[in-house]
Amino acid sequence: MQNSRQNPLRTVDLAAMRDEAFQAAVASESGQLLASCYQCGNCTAGCAYTHDYDIPVHQVMRLVQLGHRERALSCRSIWLCATCQACTTRCPNNIDVARVMDVLRHMARRAGHAPEPTVKTFTDGFLASVARHGRVFEAGLAAVFAIKSGKPLQDAGLGPAMLSRGKLAFLPHEPEGQGKAEVAAIFERFYARKKQGGGE
Ligand code: SF4
Ligand code: SF4
Repeated sequence: MQNSRQNPLRTVDLAAMRDEAFQAAVASESGQLLASCYQCGNCTAGCAYTHDYDIPVHQVMRLVQLGHRERALSCRSIWLCATCQACTTRCPNNIDVARVMDVLRHMARRAGHAPEPTVKTFTDGFLASVARHGRVFEAGLAAVFAIKSGKPLQDAGLGPAMLSRGKLAFLPHEPEGQGKAEVAAIFERFYARKKQGGGE
């Protein structure tokens, strides 16, 4: 086995690890000047979810700068991000950091990464509900999520309180007039674009 005496420099070849196509794709899809990040850490300081992240948001930005595709796309942080935009508003270089996190999440989906499967299950269920009803049907979404997440009783205790306060309806409240059709048309355009290779 090689030790520090045999390999005194113990260097990491960053250039060899760089995926330039990945760097270019993130820059293109996000529209952000990623090189302008100077790692001040302001984004992480304002992120309410840092305590749950496996990689703080400023380090995610660094991974993108370095072109470390696999580490960036397989981290949990991009799935736990709430898109609150606190990072974006705090960035002194006007980088839309939340947009970068969003782009990474889409790329991770396309690459088959889902380190937080319940987040993906919830997101998929939410979008399916909006596509079907024109707006989210909370009770239906809760039922689908409970079944698909494999935790049918996890949030069951919240049901009675939400029902008594009128926060949950047994039937969907679909938009009036053309609203439902307009929402459906948005999803149709999206699926048509995806079919042509436009991604998610
Ligand atoms: S958008 Fe995401 S990364 Fe940025 S502060 Fe909010 S939760 Fe954190
Ligand atoms: S706040 Fe902006 S410049 Fe500072 S680390 Fe985050 S992305 Fe980089």
